[in-house]
Amino acid sequence: MKAKYIFITGGVVSSLGKGITAASIGLLLKSRGVKVVNQKFDPYLNIDPGTMNPYQHGEVFVTEDGGETDLDLGHYERFTDVPLRRFNNTTAGKVYLAILDRERAGGYHGNTVQAIPHVTDEIQDRILGTAAETGAEVVITEIGGTVGDIESLPFVEAIRQIKYKVGKENCVFVHLGLLPYLKECGELKTKPMQHSVKELLGFGIQPDIIMCRSEKPLTKSIREKLGLFCNVEQDAIIENLSAKSIYEVPLMLEAAGLGKSLCKLLGLSDSPPALEEWKEMVQRFYRPERETTIALVGKYVELHDAYLSVAEALTAGGIFHGAKVKIEWIDAERITDEAKAAELLGKANGIIVPGGFGDRGTAGMVLAAKFARERKVPYFGICLGMQIAVIEFARDVLGMAGANSSEFDAATEYPVIDLMPDQQGVKLGGTLRLGVCRCVIAEGSLAERAYKIHDIQERHRHRYEFNNLYRPQFEASEMALTGRNPERNLIEIVEIKGHPWFVGVQFHPEFASRPNRPHPLFRDFIGATLGRG
Ligand code: GLN
Repeated sequence: MKAKYIFITGGVVSSLGKGITAASIGLLLKSRGVKVVNQKFDPYLNIDPGTMNPYQHGEVFVTEDGGETDLDLGHYERFTDVPLRRFNNTTAGKVYLAILDRERAGGYHGNTVQAIPHVTDEIQDRILGTAAETGAEVVITEIGGTVGDIESLPFVEAIRQIKYKVGKENCVFVHLGLLPYLKECGELKTKPMQHSVKELLGFGIQPDIIMCRSEKPLTKSIREKLGLFCNVEQDAIIENLSAKSIYEVPLMLEAAGLGKSLCKLLGLSDSPPALEEWKEMVQRFYRPERETTIALVGKYVELHDAYLSVAEALTAGGIFHGAKVKIEWIDAERITDEAKAAELLGKANGIIVPGGFGDRGTAGMVLAAKFARERKVPYFGICLGMQIAVIEFARDVLGMAGANSSEFDAATEYPVIDLMPDQQGVKLGGTLRLGVCRCVIAEGSLAERAYKIHDIQERHRHRYEFNNLYRPQFEASEMALTGRNPERNLIEIVEIKGHPWFVGVQFHPEFASRPNRPHPLFRDFIGATLGRG
């Protein structure tokens, strides 16, 4: 079957939730038995967000094949449960890099290389390539930014053209915009949306569906106005109200007729969507029977998006246990001594130290790990959080004063976390260990209890490792090394014996967690914080 394509553009303002909308479209079609894949086009020039400041970009979502991608791919995976790959996130930087490399290699045979057709063709190759690579029946592509931005023009032109390459019956344009509500006149206003559609029309694109983000339901007269001025049928105007949980959005969009409209436009059979499990998950989320407070100790806590997948995985663990998870966002730099740790962490039922890079805040994280170990508060260390737990244990239990990661103190006497021998001396760029790696789990461990299997695959994004030189000291201690990568003999999991739940993992389990299928470690961590260890 020839693939079909849905393109999602945004208008009026940014941050309307295009990613959630694209992810919801994926879920609504998948729940009708359609094979879908989501992808995101980002108009910025960075090759990928891997080196971008989390404060500007939020979390870097890591795909199984080691792609460092936009956080919207996390929404796509959580909603559709379709594992994505590196190529599911294309930036303008990647497009230009490919073109310039080809130009240098003589690939254009002396022709002038231009935005049209070369940039637009490269973008289209990536749209068609995703269909070919994945065998998806419907490829859902979100275009980052807002229509009219200078940098997104080649993307908009590329999707305009592609409609005529793949056939207009195989292509749907969805435009998401805002209908602001003016309190003074008690009305939703359609003019910004009309202008946004006009802008899109100026680029030659007539949206097939307009999605209206709004705080209030759309009245009949609003709908008529929108239909008339945006040239769309009434059933192609979809209201997209603010929801208490992002996981309710697909259900609201389904109720608003989105699934039906998409099927009609794409000529797909509109079988009833299988959304029961999803609905049940949302119901559980809305009706928690208990509550647990998790202190998340990090250095980018002012921007919660910097820890998006961790927060979603905690929530998913809570949904499983019928518990509301309250996250206390704690800036690690505020934990300056043990008294401060007790003050800031004293009320938490569990402590999580997520991933991070650089020295800032690590002293506070070490104090948090010490507090969790000594007070027997459930602790979950992810990547940096695992390294922190090892450092703390080496210093305070194994008597290695000043033990550290060579990332934070190159001259430390005890580099318990260090670069692997094959990485020593390599320049920083491109040396991260990325993507899924195997881990073999020890019997009798908390990890075994969680996973119930012994051979797992998890996603990585880090450069430093547990230093095997110190293995004998740890093996003779209360810190158990319970997960190991057999190929490279790397420690992947540490735990503290006799502690209710203290687990550090060198990988990132949060990326594999789903709202309706929490990652086993998050599930058990939340369970332990509820006294169900
Ligand atoms: N900075 C640490 C390293 O490079 C941890 C990375 C992370 O937490 N993602 O190994």
